[in-house]
Amino acid sequence: MVIAHAPDLPAALQEPLDDTAAVWEADRCLRCGGPTARAPCTLACPTEVDVPGFVDAIARGDLQTAATIIFSANALGGSCARVCPVEELCQQACVLDTQGRRPIEIARLQRFAADWALPRGAVPIRPGPPNGKRVTVIGAGPAGLGCAATLVSLGYAVTVVDGRAEVGGLVRYAIAPYRLVRDPLPSEAARLADAGVDFRFELPVDRPERLRALEQESDALFLGVGLGADAEVPYPGDHLPGVWDSLPFIEALKLDRPPRVGAHTLVVGGGNTAIDVAREALRLGAQRVTLLYRRTEKEMPAYAHEVREARDEGVAFQFLAEPVRFLGNGHVDQVECRRMQLGAPDASGRSRPEPVTGSEFLLPADTVVMAIGQQRRLEFFSWIDGLRLDHGLVIADPATGQTSVSKYFAGGDAANGGATVVQAVHAGTVAAYGIDRYLRGIGGTA
Ligand SMILES: Cc1cc2nc3c(=O)[nH]c(=O)nc-3n(C[C@H](O)[C@H](O)[C@H](O)COP(=O)(O)OP(=O)(O)OC[C@H]3O[C@@H](n4cnc5c(N)ncnc54)[C@H](O)[C@@H]3O)c2cc1C
Ligand code: SF4
Repeated sequence: MVIAHAPDLPAALQEPLDDTAAVWEADRCLRCGGPTARAPCTLACPTEVDVPGFVDAIARGDLQTAATIIFSANALGGSCARVCPVEELCQQACVLDTQGRRPIEIARLQRFAADWALPRGAVPIRPGPPNGKRVTVIGAGPAGLGCAATLVSLGYAVTVVDGRAEVGGLVRYAIAPYRLVRDPLPSEAARLADAGVDFRFELPVDRPERLRALEQESDALFLGVGLGADAEVPYPGDHLPGVWDSLPFIEALKLDRPPRVGAHTLVVGGGNTAIDVAREALRLGAQRVTLLYRRTEKEMPAYAHEVREARDEGVAFQFLAEPVRFLGNGHVDQVECRRMQLGAPDASGRSRPEPVTGSEFLLPADTVVMAIGQQRRLEFFSWIDGLRLDHGLVIADPATGQTSVSKYFAGGDAANGGATVVQAVHAGTVAAYGIDRYLRGIGGTA
């Protein structure tokens, strides 16, 4: 029998497991952990999904139990199965790996169970008995959804407002389409709506009066607003057609309006977003995709396994270089760059890149994508009197999500500066319990 397994591809790029392959894969699990010690894979998951528990249920053919275990820990269990960087999380901790054997394909098994359950409505959220309190969640991204799912199960009346037309935040609009385009977000949101969560889309909280009105009608609020648009660093020529910011570039792909990239694409940046853009540009047909980063590979914030995969797919890397200006007549066709060298460490602890005088050179480019980070939501936060920030991020108690303004809680990218979906879901869940304790007068400053 041939088992559907492709060891060279990251989990997100692999085909879903079929029934036979799922049972075979689940059967390989050693069922680590026990009543007194949780398994390493579970501990490595930010939402602490009971991995051996759901894998064992799959091996027994009990998908109902498998999906119940997954979704009771993580309201976005289906999406996470597609987007989690498992090479850094659960699968990285699999003890089979330490024995030189192939780690259990946890994400694919999780996807198998979630994809069985969601279309069947097999794992409904049971709303708690109504307790008369109302919470507003601002942001329908992973943090907001994690918070709302837990709150409704505790008996709160929950309203989720979002400026966008669809649920999911960056999962819907930014995460690379080769991992996830839209599904299974709508079914995951339907679980919440069926339990009574009131979703209001296309309702941006874009002025202080709107926020005041929400404050008036809410006993507590959760800020799951994430980060903002791409960071703005002006360059001569950046108005030229063909020069993109990373988020609109990926959003165009996800909304089925793929950008025309031409033969040469240049991506500026060294994070996971830059890597995603570069890999997508190859899929769009670019013949040469070059990633320009001003430090060396060692300092790149992107996951090492993603850099490796991008290189394997054909992305070229130009380290110790940065753009100076974009050139072209009516459309970008070249980028003037210059070489960099590393100096003393900067505030981030990484060596500061410094330009090398007279080192300018030209690179051809039909498309340039700037992927140098996201802005913080400073204006929005300034409308909340007394809200304490650290470098533009909300300071929230990691154990409760509570901010310096007692009825406001926060989590996800807005507080951690940009991490992963599963971390945002976890932060939202933690904040829901923090809100519950606050509104029941247990701890916190009511
Ligand atoms: C290009 C890219 C690729 C990524 N790839 C991955 C990946 O493969 N795997 C992974 O785990 N993570 C990935 N991430 C990170 C992940 O997407 C985020 O960590 C996660 O989405 C954060 O969730 P959040 O709920 O905090 O914020 P967001 O997902 O940003 O959601 C915030 C929501 O709040 C809404 N909002 C904001 N302000 C307002 C307002 N004033 N009024 C109303 N609504 C508002 C927004 O419309 C949005 O829907 C990626 C990020 C980027 C940028
Ligand atoms: S939620 Fe993500 S990190 Fe956690 S077990 Fe599932 S795939 Fe692994």
